[in-house]
Amino acid sequence: MPGRDAPGSGAGTAGRTAGPVLEARDAVKVFPGVTALDGVSFSLDQGEVHALVGENGAGKSTLIKVLTGVYRLDGGEVRYRGERAEFGSPLEAQRAGIATIYQEVNLVPQMSVARNLLLGREPRGRLGLIDFAAMRERATAVLREYGIDVDVRRPLGSLGLGVQQMVALARAIQADARVVIMDEPTSSLEPREVETLFAVIAGLKARGTAIVYVSHRLEELYRICDRVTVLRDGRAVHTGPLAGLDRLRLISLMLGRAVSEVRAEGLTKFAGHHDSAGEPVLRAEGLARRNLLRGVSLAVRPGEIVGLGGLLGSGRSETAKAIAGALPLDEGRVSVNGRAVPGGSVPAAIEAGVVLLPEDRKAEGIVPTLSVRDNIALAALPRLSRAGIVSEAEVDRVVAAFVDRLRIKAAGPHQPAGELSGGNQQKVLLARWLAMNPKVLLLDEPTRGIDVGAKAEVQALIDELAGDGLAVVLISSDLEELVEGSDRVVVLREGAVAGELHDDITEDGIMAVIAGGGHG
Ligand code: ADP
Ligand code: MG
Repeated sequence: MPGRDAPGSGAGTAGRTAGPVLEARDAVKVFPGVTALDGVSFSLDQGEVHALVGENGAGKSTLIKVLTGVYRLDGGEVRYRGERAEFGSPLEAQRAGIATIYQEVNLVPQMSVARNLLLGREPRGRLGLIDFAAMRERATAVLREYGIDVDVRRPLGSLGLGVQQMVALARAIQADARVVIMDEPTSSLEPREVETLFAVIAGLKARGTAIVYVSHRLEELYRICDRVTVLRDGRAVHTGPLAGLDRLRLISLMLGRAVSEVRAEGLTKFAGHHDSAGEPVLRAEGLARRNLLRGVSLAVRPGEIVGLGGLLGSGRSETAKAIAGALPLDEGRVSVNGRAVPGGSVPAAIEAGVVLLPEDRKAEGIVPTLSVRDNIALAALPRLSRAGIVSEAEVDRVVAAFVDRLRIKAAGPHQPAGELSGGNQQKVLLARWLAMNPKVLLLDEPTRGIDVGAKAEVQALIDELAGDGLAVVLISSDLEELVEGSDRVVVLREGAVAGELHDDITEDGIMAVIAGGGHG
């Protein structure tokens, strides 16, 4: 086991032995418009690795933040080692023995690896000055134990993210943590580093340290976790041992869907294309990107809506981005109507007729202060101009046509887009991309966060567009939408195609492919 000697009293006997080491009781956390935690109870035992899972927005990060003093609770309480805890800051929690390792490494990139590792605990010599030689020696020794061999004098920021994360972990453990919380720790790690991390976790556990492990990678959870708590919409909907918990059941808890006994029905392993009604307009072959995509292939015919299913982090958005030129590829090809599209370039993809409606319309889409008209015309301006001169009349005509066609509800084309409802903003974005006259439309969560009525309208619109011959790729976490809206569903798992459903597409069928290897 890497790290320093076990704490004096040893595992399981430090302080109180009975009861959980860290606990949330009926925790409530409200943000404007969202109840992120709606009475969550969670308890962590000494020496266990406890998985915290749930779909995007379920409340995992918020729970971690209330446990570690980042946020104050609006109701309920946090208990640590049997007593009510009110950490005023993450630093306080850390001093008390709760170390948190976030996906983003929060160390100091400009400082050396050694200094980052031993910050606040630097070995000092005469006159209280830092003994740099001793510091380097100690840091090197500590990291070696974790299988990391680096020049500890280098600035932390000059190293790979994986190594940085291991340094953060090593630091946390050095600091005598009783509880270690890891939020998606493996997302930036190389396979070899993941193995090292697991070895470290096993060692910590043996020593009695309690670990909270947030991850979307089911394989990992089943390998290293003892219990799991499932959050959904700000509630803890299940806590129990992982061993014996069927994967399909776990996924159904996360997604809030019943599992019937359908399992492998309606499910065929990905085996190329089924019928041959027309040649695919879009072909993506062997898309690969370090840590994100491992050889994804996809073909879509004109008029076809291909759904992309999978859990968060399975590679759905990355696949769409890669096809749209927004994610560089290590390997793989994209072609439209048999013509290769140069990778890694959004303009080249648009030129080839591929457009992507991104997931986050606020961050990547709508310019709230610009008018509806300008938001629609934004991307298409070069097309609507002749010799660099934009014909305002032509823009007006195109905008009016889309406002009408997509039934965009606005006071007029000059209303700022930010004043429209979510659903209408989404339509404006859709109009923007349709104005590019695409052949392939990639939609990433097109109805997330819009109200039910608008949702139905957007769905109907997608159908119409496909009816006009557009090839559509539809990403949705809403299984019902995927089932209802797709001609075929390709399911991704951990960056690769895990299976495909056609003809008989059901929620259970999709979940069965997501769950993959059957039982836990
Ligand atoms: P998870 O980590 O499971 O994806 P989060 O805890 O990040 O979920 O989010 C839970 C809910 O709370 C989401 O609806 C999210 O939008 C909302 N939320 C999280 N943090 C904030 C914040 N600082 N301000 C407003 N809303 C937030
Ligand atoms: Mg989170």
